[in-house]
Amino acid sequence: MEEADVVIVGAGIAGLATALALKRLGVRALVLEKAEGLRTTGSALSLSSNAWLALDSLGIARKLTTAYAPCRKGYVTDIESGAIQEVSFSKSDMGEHVFRVALIGCDGVHSVVAHWLGLRAPIDSGRWAVRGLAVYPEGHGLNLEIQQFVTSGKRAGFVPLNDKEVYWFLTSKFSSKGKDMARDPELIMKEVTDNFAKDFPRQYLKVVQRSDLSTLTWAPLMFRPPWDMIFGNLSKGNVTVAGDAMHPMTPDMGQGGCSALEDAVVLGRHIGDSIIRNKRFVGGDQMAGVLERYVKERRWRAAGLITGSYLSGWVQQEGSGWFTKFLRDVIFYKLLFIVLFSVRDYNCGKLPSVTSNGTPRLENNPRKVD
Ligand SMILES: Cc1cc2nc3c(=O)[nH]c(=O)nc-3n(C[C@H](O)[C@H](O)[C@H](O)COP(=O)(O)OP(=O)(O)OC[C@H]3O[C@@H](n4cnc5c(N)ncnc54)[C@H](O)[C@@H]3O)c2cc1C
Repeated sequence: MEEADVVIVGAGIAGLATALALKRLGVRALVLEKAEGLRTTGSALSLSSNAWLALDSLGIARKLTTAYAPCRKGYVTDIESGAIQEVSFSKSDMGEHVFRVALIGCDGVHSVVAHWLGLRAPIDSGRWAVRGLAVYPEGHGLNLEIQQFVTSGKRAGFVPLNDKEVYWFLTSKFSSKGKDMARDPELIMKEVTDNFAKDFPRQYLKVVQRSDLSTLTWAPLMFRPPWDMIFGNLSKGNVTVAGDAMHPMTPDMGQGGCSALEDAVVLGRHIGDSIIRNKRFVGGDQMAGVLERYVKERRWRAAGLITGSYLSGWVQQEGSGWFTKFLRDVIFYKLLFIVLFSVRDYNCGKLPSVTSNGTPRLENNPRKVD
């Protein structure tokens, strides 16, 4: 087996971003992936400004911004009353030892590394989500705005990604075919159009009907309770976790992937600071300290995102009683929305610039290193 300083388990967004961060620091990383090849799961990922800052630190933001335009505002329609609210995102613009030093578990929601650390399995929120990509070779002609539709127990919406592709989603706490949908995209399409979203506006149904079937996915929404994040072992010696392996959360604020990118940069930053301090990459007890500092920085941030996402999903989807509607339409959309979604303004910092042999290039590293 190839020798590596760091082994990363899992080649999802967290694993690949972490590998990229380490590569930029000149640290040799080996990524282990159980899937046989590249594959697509889900149709799109909305990335808010915190993720773009992380991608910028990883040196790849520019490559992506040319392909996708930012979405600055959206509308939420109450299916029962027909009331429409505008929401703005403008504030957020912007066994055998193969490893010498560290192992980072980026192996997703059902992480074996998290289990090894002693973390409890994530909880099922009782809700599930389907998502897909509608394709319009001739152009869709929609405004670049998010449209959301809410009704008792269900929330759905769509977001144009560019002039030919529209991402759509539906989350629900009701279940009819449940896991059967996970295996059958045609069933997803049928269940959404004939059952779950049959009372939704035609505009939404027309988007769903334009889906590329290969992009349709169904997933139960799982999360790690915030108290497990705060009190649990997120690292042990030179082993830690990142991405969904550390902080699975419901997708109600679209922060799972964004925060996985933050993890990669924060971990890289702490490893880079250690390289600068020691003038080389060091492992052993010192690496355990580096991982502890990474965990300390991520623990409360991720616990906050999990809590915010859960509350956001609950309040938008819970019930049709006057109290939950008041919470949703007055407290959440008018007051809490801006506060809760300001988590997107978080800046995870820059990777320190070091050469591959560990020599710091301090002129590009304005942050003070103790
Ligand atoms: C419906 C829905 C909508 C979402 N929308 C958004 C959004 O808009 N914006 C956003 O930022 N996030 C969103 N998310 C969350 C986001 O998709 C996840 O947080 C993100 O994909 C997690 O990335 P990850 O790399 O941690 O895990 P994963 O993507 O799960 O990758 C884990 C990888 O590890 C591999 N693996 C697992 N076990 C092993 C093993 N034992 N050995 C080797 N390899 C292994 C797997 O094969 C996989 O490739 C959404 C999630 C859902 C369900």
